[in-house]
Amino acid sequence: MENNTVEQFMDIRAATVAKMLEEKERGMKVVGIYCTFCPQELVLAAGAIPVGLCGTREEPIPAAEEVLPRNLCPLIKSSYGFAVTDTCPFFNFSDLIVGETTCDGKKKMFEIMQELKPVHVMQLPHHHKAGASLDLWIDEIKSLKTKIEEEFQLEIKDEDIWKAVDLVNQEKKALKEISDLNRNSPPPMSGLELLTVVWSGGFSFDKKELVQMLEELKKTLESREVDPKSAKKPRILLTGCPVGLGSEKVVRLVDELGATVVAMENCTGYKTLELMADRSKDDPIVALAEKYLNIPCSCMSPNPYRMELLGRMIDDFNAEAVIDLTWQACHTYNIESHEVEKVVKDKGLPFLHLESDYSSSDEESLKVRIEAMLEMIEK
Ligand code: SF4
Ligand code: SF4
Repeated sequence: MENNTVEQFMDIRAATVAKMLEEKERGMKVVGIYCTFCPQELVLAAGAIPVGLCGTREEPIPAAEEVLPRNLCPLIKSSYGFAVTDTCPFFNFSDLIVGETTCDGKKKMFEIMQELKPVHVMQLPHHHKAGASLDLWIDEIKSLKTKIEEEFQLEIKDEDIWKAVDLVNQEKKALKEISDLNRNSPPPMSGLELLTVVWSGGFSFDKKELVQMLEELKKTLESREVDPKSAKKPRILLTGCPVGLGSEKVVRLVDELGATVVAMENCTGYKTLELMADRSKDDPIVALAEKYLNIPCSCMSPNPYRMELLGRMIDDFNAEAVIDLTWQACHTYNIESHEVEKVVKDKGLPFLHLESDYSSSDEESLKVRIEAMLEMIEK
């Protein structure tokens, strides 16, 4: 099979469900994760499969609201809703769930989720700096290693962690190279295509296969004939809360309104792509701790790396406007939008802060606001 089209990435999720069904019967272990702070290298080093469980669809939210407050971010409600209704095959397959104390809503939801599955929560320090924060995070990564070893009755060896580090580093490099193709004018991928590739790739059963698919897709995109007229489309940078297929409405609306989301700074997109575990460290746990503590999530305080990354991405992708998407009740991203606006305004670009949820009820008003922003772009 040729692995060189965006469409093939749409099939990854279903193919992984089928493969996991087979492999679970042979004893394969699955670890469900909800956040980019989870050091998935430890899961891979244990011979298990890490799978992202963040909910991106509206359907299970009413079931979640029977337990969780309604005024909670849709990502948390959707994630819990899929779990409590047992409608996500990946949650069903998971032998262990790993959560982190990122935002308040997530960490309290994990306490309730323990009624459904074994959940291990990592205590995340909310400061990027080395010192006490790094020491705590090293201890938390060691605790996760012990938990996986106990749960799956095995020993995770340093050499296996290093192999997993290499694999995840290769994956990040390949994802970054694909994302960087959209620095070109015209960009070879629409916003929805970019989202399809990076989000669907997260469901891959085999990271080696994923890296190969990404490398082949890169070749296809490099030789893709793009309509030169699309070079005139406004170039939009999306930042804020994570999005996925099912919660892609802003990306879709931008495409439909004749512009292109050329890059996404959020967790689905570029936020972690430059962060690689340092191969020159003696201890792989320290290398992992340093890498993950640098993730520029709004739950970190202060969070200067996000602003630095955003500024660079605006320049590198020649963005002509920035949309900051906050899910309703996400206080950290909502408040941090103030700093994001300053970065964007300093560059002299239009800035739009949108607060939304997973429903389609606000699409008309979102459309009007995006249209108004597009009109401000100087051509
Ligand atoms: S935005 Fe923050 S809490 Fe959400 S997945 Fe990313 S790192 Fe985790
Ligand atoms: S979007 Fe915000 S509130 Fe929701 S899980 Fe992520 S950080 Fe927490």
